[in-house]
Amino acid sequence: MTPTVTTRPSPAHGDAHHAVVHEPGESVEATCAKIAGRCVLITGCMFSGKTTALLRAARLFPEAARVLVKHAGDTRYRTDAIVTHDGDYLPAHAIADARAITELIDEHTHLVVVDEVHFFDDSLADVVAALTRCGIGAVAAGLELGCWGQPFPSIERLVELSDERLELTARCARCGQTADRTQRTTPIVAGRLVGGAESYEPRCIKCWTPPPQS
Ligand SMILES: [Zn+2]
Repeated sequence: MTPTVTTRPSPAHGDAHHAVVHEPGESVEATCAKIAGRCVLITGCMFSGKTTALLRAARLFPEAARVLVKHAGDTRYRTDAIVTHDGDYLPAHAIADARAITELIDEHTHLVVVDEVHFFDDSLADVVAALTRCGIGAVAAGLELGCWGQPFPSIERLVELSDERLELTARCARCGQTADRTQRTTPIVAGRLVGGAESYEPRCIKCWTPPPQS
């Protein structure tokens, strides 16, 4: 199946977007029905507004109807919440294995939200496929490319099974053109990616270079 692909600039550049299209005045039931059994994938470089789009989609659903998860290895900002770079957040379960999602859902769950999907292994795609078969919707966000410009394997499988895809971009920190790559700006010490968001910036393909090693 080929997903619908929508490419939009980051909300930081003035274009509001919704991962799940929500009409003004629409009932919660109608929004739930729209996402039922569908997977929406949000990709883009760092600082493209992926997590903002994710939280906006989550907030269309009552707390009891949504399950939010993040990878336990993502300890930036907070360990118990999905947090945007500008400090907005919603509480989330930190899990090390995507299969734990199946223990978090119940008969009230209409939506599962997954942040930073590139941290998960291939089993995430299996879990998302199982959720959508049960009529539960999934909205997942993550980096498509690592800081070496390589695609993450877990994203590739989610791209294949997604029904809708939102590709977000940012402004290149060097030239101001549309950026879809993440530039590592501090050296990688002994192969370890230490450092948080301050070690990265969005770059266009022309300004992007492989990360410095030390
Ligand atoms: Zn550039």
